[in-house]
Amino acid sequence: MKAAVWYGEKDIRIEERELKALKDNEVSVRVAWAGICGSDLHEYQEGPVFVPTEKEDQLTGQVAPLIMGHEFAGIIEKVGSQVTKFKVGDRVAINPTLTYGNKPEDIDQYDGFSFIGLHGDGGFTTFANAPESNVYLLPETLSLQEGALVEPTAVAVQAIKEGGLRFGDTAAIFGAGPIGLVTVIAAKAAGASKIIVLDLSETRLEKAKELGATHIVNSGKENPVEAIRAIVPEGVDVSFEVAGVAPTFTQAIESTKARGTMVIVSIFARPIEWNPIQLTNTGVKITSSIAYTPTSFQQTVDLMGTGQLNPQSIVTSQIQLDDIVDKGFEALTKDKTQVKILVELSGEK
Ligand SMILES: [Zn+2]
Repeated sequence: MKAAVWYGEKDIRIEERELKALKDNEVSVRVAWAGICGSDLHEYQEGPVFVPTEKEDQLTGQVAPLIMGHEFAGIIEKVGSQVTKFKVGDRVAINPTLTYGNKPEDIDQYDGFSFIGLHGDGGFTTFANAPESNVYLLPETLSLQEGALVEPTAVAVQAIKEGGLRFGDTAAIFGAGPIGLVTVIAAKAAGASKIIVLDLSETRLEKAKELGATHIVNSGKENPVEAIRAIVPEGVDVSFEVAGVAPTFTQAIESTKARGTMVIVSIFARPIEWNPIQLTNTGVKITSSIAYTPTSFQQTVDLMGTGQLNPQSIVTSQIQLDDIVDKGFEALTKDKTQVKILVELSGEK
């Protein structure tokens, strides 16, 4: 089967790959649509970040080169002998997070995690295998394209929960990339009264407004902290750092109210220099989130199914697998009007 395979920085190749043997507890999914994630882009631009290159990943047993793609949905083609919850033909989304499962779900990922599509073969291909416990049935109301958006949306749902955002709270979101934008959608669904979004790109800010931001601030033109304080003088209840660079990290803290919460959602590819006295002086609490719990993933499916979360409009283009480098990774690198690019595999609805 044809697949997009990560070999190294700036080296993703379309080539023929064999599907791994199906394990008893796994299902094989005929991939319909798969999204390109910010973390895929990191792997392309400056990887390896997560991809194992030296020794086999503990959870997947794989090492690069491997098939990328962890945001995908499709139709079950085959089920392993021990699979009980699914049957051939079921429409499903994949939760790509693999854990050891030895701890309660809210701390399980901190015991170590791997991603289907980053640490092992993923969804930029015809078929992908996943353990039954990582598979979620899609309601009739959701298309398979929307199914491919469950994963990034679940990241935002988890971040909102982590921030303890409550009805009526104010929020600032630093970064209007794909995850920043789904965070806007999730903050709105969670009842945030003011949602201030900051970015350098005018088009992304316009998108944020379309999706529910009440205020947008171009950080290249205005001082972000002053702009936020002009809207919410005491600072926001919760801020979300979704840009992953030093300036936004300190600005997010500085624009949060005393004893408010700053949530690190982004993956910092590089260390930053920062003085913790900023917390001493402001009383802001910092927390972080990575991925989502199985419960949050299911809730995301449910909330998307009812229309309470509707991320469909973050999709800016649909491309073919053969074009994944030029029209996918390169487009995301060069063109800030691109947000979420979906790769059409079987293209089923
Ligand atoms: Zn992702």
